Amino acid sequence: MGTTEIPFLDLVTVHRELREELRSAFEVTLDTAGFVGGTVVEEFERDFAEFCESRFCVGVASGTDALRFALIAAGVQRGDIAVTTPLTFIATTEAISQAGARPEFVDIDERTYTMDPESLRAYLETDCTRELTTGRMICKRTGSPVTTIIPVHLYGQMADMDPILELAARYGLTVVEDACQAHGAEYFSKREGRWRKAGSMGRAAAFSFYPGKNLGACGEAGAVTTDDARVARRCQMLRDHGQSRKYFHDFEGYNGRLDAIQAGLLLVKLRHLAKWNEQRRERAREYGELFADAGETVVRPHVPLWSRPVYHLYVVRIAEREPIQKALAAAGIATGVHYPIPIHLAKAYETLGFSPGDFPVAEHAASQVLSLPMFPSLSPGQQERVVIRVVESINATTRRTPVSEPTPGDRL
Ligand SMILES: *Cc1c(COP(=O)(O)O)cnc(C)c1O
Repeated sequence: MGTTEIPFLDLVTVHRELREELRSAFEVTLDTAGFVGGTVVEEFERDFAEFCESRFCVGVASGTDALRFALIAAGVQRGDIAVTTPLTFIATTEAISQAGARPEFVDIDERTYTMDPESLRAYLETDCTRELTTGRMICKRTGSPVTTIIPVHLYGQMADMDPILELAARYGLTVVEDACQAHGAEYFSKREGRWRKAGSMGRAAAFSFYPGKNLGACGEAGAVTTDDARVARRCQMLRDHGQSRKYFHDFEGYNGRLDAIQAGLLLVKLRHLAKWNEQRRERAREYGELFADAGETVVRPHVPLWSRPVYHLYVVRIAEREPIQKALAAAGIATGVHYPIPIHLAKAYETLGFSPGDFPVAEHAASQVLSLPMFPSLSPGQQERVVIRVVESINATTRRTPVSEPTPGDRL
């Protein structure tokens, strides 16, 4: 890598800075040979629960496990429908299917990219009907009961939780947060008159500690947070073959435990997470100022008054993304697209029967979003070079299309 190149994220610097601490955490586990479970895992769970202002945390082997276990523990049954948004990573919908349920979608808000409460309301009011005998919500299209809502706190910003929780309460639905990108993000709940942390608002929430996340392990890891002791207990059993104690299997579970080495490393890194999140916010402010002159051509992240995001990603919107991304790559600037194909149009879900145009806001966003380099040690100088390149490339493309409103039926 040449010195002029700017990576998308930098996982080297952070581990170099913490090398001694990480090494001693690793050695503690080697010396005790307690590789699975044990006091280090429990200590991490305690600290992460506290960080999330949640009563319980259950460490698991990945964010995908966390989602699957949270759904099952929160009561998702075979044949249920769980509703989420199309602009997410496939793990959200994989977990739904693996829990025996079926994913359905509602569109996102055009500016925050998270679940649009109005779309959720419309889905429940017009696409579902209340079963008279049970009071359950039944999806008219499939005839299956809708039981669960999974808002995705995308790019490090929480979904608009108050109206989502209100709809859930009105229709008897369970909310499970996909907080895999939102460690430490906050939401101002008007209902409660206070700031709430990601992972503390739903029945349960799933976090990923994949290395590139705001809190990342040195390998795979994840966690479920919840205030519900029974949900926590079920997750503890699900991650460990359904055992209530050794070889007493109350139900079939999984091998989805958090290992002690990762827990020890995460414990070290957790102590720096609030500072890293603040640094990401500073980097986002810097981008915001640098892009201020670009006008309509670069749409910056929208942060509602109720949101304190943690910028897992810094995502802008550009009318003609591909030439810009190519020009940046040629200049040694790495970018990403989260996500190029909205999940209802993924080949994996062909059989669900969705078509282009079903979720126009998500589809339009998927064609325009561009994730720029974002990590705590990103320097203002690097950011300036990124912004100059973006603006130059936009000016160089022949059609200078402003970012437009989505049109129903827009193709990717
Ligand atoms: C990373 C991520 C996951 C999955 O986490 P893994 O630890 O990779 O299994 C799920 N949902 C979202 C939104 C993610 O970003």
